[in-house]
Amino acid sequence: MTTYAEAIAKIRLRAERKEKRREKAKELGLRKPKLDKIPLLIKKNDAIFSLIIRGRDAKRGCPFFHEVFTPVQCCFHIIPRGKHWVRWDMDNAVGSCHSCNYRYEQDHFFVHDVIAWVRKNVPRYEEIMLIANTKEPMGRERLEKIHSDLLAKIQAPRG
Ligand SMILES: [Zn+2]
Repeated sequence: MTTYAEAIAKIRLRAERKEKRREKAKELGLRKPKLDKIPLLIKKNDAIFSLIIRGRDAKRGCPFFHEVFTPVQCCFHIIPRGKHWVRWDMDNAVGSCHSCNYRYEQDHFFVHDVIAWVRKNVPRYEEIMLIANTKEPMGRERLEKIHSDLLAKIQAPRG
């Protein structure tokens, strides 16, 4: 399995290479390199976002009512990923174990408990709910902005 540091290094390297290709193409007066397709951008954003969330919450472990420390294994979305406007919002996700992530889709008693936890621990929850219902489709520009913001987050020194 790839470690967190390895995954981050890989994403950074790819971004740097892409930037170099862009610069070179610019210098040579070539046409702009082909733009990423929207589904690819979404996939990339998901991958980086998941790394950030898992890294952020690794020390805490899965927050959902375990009696012992349970390692973070995945990126748990409070409001499901289908809501693009909050899909990459740092306050709409926590690092959780696989089992809790799965249970959230299956067990409405568990959902109830999680939402109670969220109301206590995520001050922006109501705001996120509102943003989630934005009807306007999310365009390429916005997805690219999210991409560069997420990249900047992993490139910033981690405190
Ligand atoms: Zn769990």
